[in-house]
Amino acid sequence: MLESLFRPKKVAVIGASSKELSIGNRVIKNLIDFGFKGDIYPINPKADEIRGIKAFKSITDCPNNIDVVHMVIPAKFVPEAVEDCGRKGVKNIIINSGGFSETGPEGEAIEKDFLARAAKYSIRILGPNCQGIINSDPRIRAYCNFTFTKPEPGFISIVALSGGVAEVIHQGFAAMGVGTRIYASNGNACDVTIPEIIRYLGQDDGTRVIVTYVEGLRDPANFMQTVREVAARKPILAMKAGRTAEGAKAAASHTGGLAKEDLATDLIFKKAGVVTFTDEGELIQAAAAFATQPIPRGNRVGIITNTGGPAVIATDVFVGAGCQLPPLSEKTVEKLKTTLYPEASVRNPIDVLATGTAAHYRACMDAMLADDAFDCIFVNFVTPFFVDNESIAREIVAVSQLQRKPLVCNLMTDRQQWSEVVTILRDGGVPCFSLPGEAARSMAALVRYNTIRTREPGELKTFSDTDRQKGLSILSEAKQAGRRNLSAEEVYEILAAYGIPTAAWRVTANANEAVAAAESIGFPVVVKADSAAVVHKSDMGAVAVNLADADEVRAAIDQMQTTLAADDLRFLVQKFMPGGLEVILGAKAEEDLGHLIMFGLGGIHVEVLKDVVFNLTPLSTTEAKEMLAAIKGAPLLKGVRSRKGVNRGRLEELILRLSQLVKDLPAIKEMDLNPVMAFEDGAVVVDARISI
Ligand code: ADP
Ligand code: MG
Repeated sequence: MLESLFRPKKVAVIGASSKELSIGNRVIKNLIDFGFKGDIYPINPKADEIRGIKAFKSITDCPNNIDVVHMVIPAKFVPEAVEDCGRKGVKNIIINSGGFSETGPEGEAIEKDFLARAAKYSIRILGPNCQGIINSDPRIRAYCNFTFTKPEPGFISIVALSGGVAEVIHQGFAAMGVGTRIYASNGNACDVTIPEIIRYLGQDDGTRVIVTYVEGLRDPANFMQTVREVAARKPILAMKAGRTAEGAKAAASHTGGLAKEDLATDLIFKKAGVVTFTDEGELIQAAAAFATQPIPRGNRVGIITNTGGPAVIATDVFVGAGCQLPPLSEKTVEKLKTTLYPEASVRNPIDVLATGTAAHYRACMDAMLADDAFDCIFVNFVTPFFVDNESIAREIVAVSQLQRKPLVCNLMTDRQQWSEVVTILRDGGVPCFSLPGEAARSMAALVRYNTIRTREPGELKTFSDTDRQKGLSILSEAKQAGRRNLSAEEVYEILAAYGIPTAAWRVTANANEAVAAAESIGFPVVVKADSAAVVHKSDMGAVAVNLADADEVRAAIDQMQTTLAADDLRFLVQKFMPGGLEVILGAKAEEDLGHLIMFGLGGIHVEVLKDVVFNLTPLSTTEAKEMLAAIKGAPLLKGVRSRKGVNRGRLEELILRLSQLVKDLPAIKEMDLNPVMAFEDGAVVVDARISI
């Protein structure tokens, strides 16, 4: 339980300083200025008081039951100080100081040392190398942090390792006049983890939305599980940075080298139901909408404006984000025509004109609240000098506070001239933005969360006609023989053990055997060289397709024997399967996480077009379906023009079987089924690779 960390009553500062320009002084000033409801104990062996508060010589001299100790002392003194705190019965320590695992082995050793001591006394550690926490709850008012942004009470909680980014987000809210509930910057996160904090925020009634920033995930499986549970109840908005190779490097060189491959984090977010952002500005703005607005039931937006163009910009953004702008019902049109000015444009977007009054705005908002065709209301509001703008603002507030449908406002004004309008809207909790696109994107994020929250979870299917034992024994044999890549025979047998159909095949040693195999499989056939030395077969002349008779088989084998003089050379004879759509299925092990599963257009397309999508095991039926729909070439699967579509149900099944296969056989590092020939009535694998 992190209750005592986030809702402290007694806070001590080890390293409290009389020097104004020091962290040990600033933390105390922050606690005082923010109106901390509890007691503050500066600890300093020489000073009698600090900022007018009685100081103590050591932690031992302080009153008991200390919830939080700030440590603002050099790293080398930390382990001993933690020991003292342990004897005193301190519950939590925020270590602001740096000089630990983020600096190298020496610092790492100190971190290990104090961690072991903390564990001994069940002390929880935030940080080290962190800012700390803030809780704006009026009953707590804890500013256990050395920064300077003083938040208004609010509904958004922020959690991040990077204090810098947490602060960027925090300042973004402050600039918008949006409050913060709890703020936590966890630095090296050696003990209390981000998922743990997210779980706490999930239980904190005052937090309506959780905002987080990550550069990489340390314990991805735990992150996914925790976050998924919380995100089902409360929106979590997240941003991942370090997307470029350079960015990842920058991330790895601070906060202890966390950055993992970007893709997996994105997929974890997606699976966990997190609303993700790639732009910090968008994240901040969206959070402002989540803080006060209800989640919409759908994606249908009604727009009300008193000036035309900005509504057009918003419309484009909404449509681009997958939202709809349904027309007004006839009844609504009739009603509004009698209320609004005759020149007003009574459709969606509604233009009440610059001369439009508060009553006009209200009538439009009421109409959209009442009309079931709308899930969200977008207000564009310019403040002309010839209308009563304050009254308009009050009506917008009134509708927002009904909490029936989410409302956002693009406020076009001079914030100094119309400061009263700004205040009315802000105090009324209306998310206001300075650009129509920003406002529309924030609303679209609410819609996105609804889509995530209401998506069909699908079923985690387990096929029972599979033979795990067989798979395991093939893998262990290959492993014992020290082989990293499985032979064609082994690969095809594993596929067969998991009900993944392959074109009829036989592995042969020479031309005579190959001809016999071809005759039993039935012409036309394909011959492929099978050797550890041959990886990309077609590049090396190791694939001969559409061989019509025995002579052609012999000729192909002759050719391969001369060009590919490998000792282990054997020949795979396979049924020729022309006319299908070539797709690729793949899997790649991700440390601590299972496997990435890939689907896309196969054959040469995969290299040229890179039209592939990924997800993480275990895959649900819904996720398999989504993968098929997500590639750019999805229309090819459905059929275009005269070309017939392929059996998508069968491909979905193959994706799920592959997912089960790699889950059962985690020793598989990487595998590719490329191509899988997809037809109207089914699909067969004609080439496959497995490495362990
Ligand atoms: P590699 O990927 O090692 O080059 P493949 O076995 O995938 O070798 O063969 C290359 C290409 O040959 C495939 O992408 C496909 O177009 C074609 N091909 C291979 N096997 C068959 C088959 N059994 N039926 C039809 N076409 C095939
Ligand atoms: Mg291939």
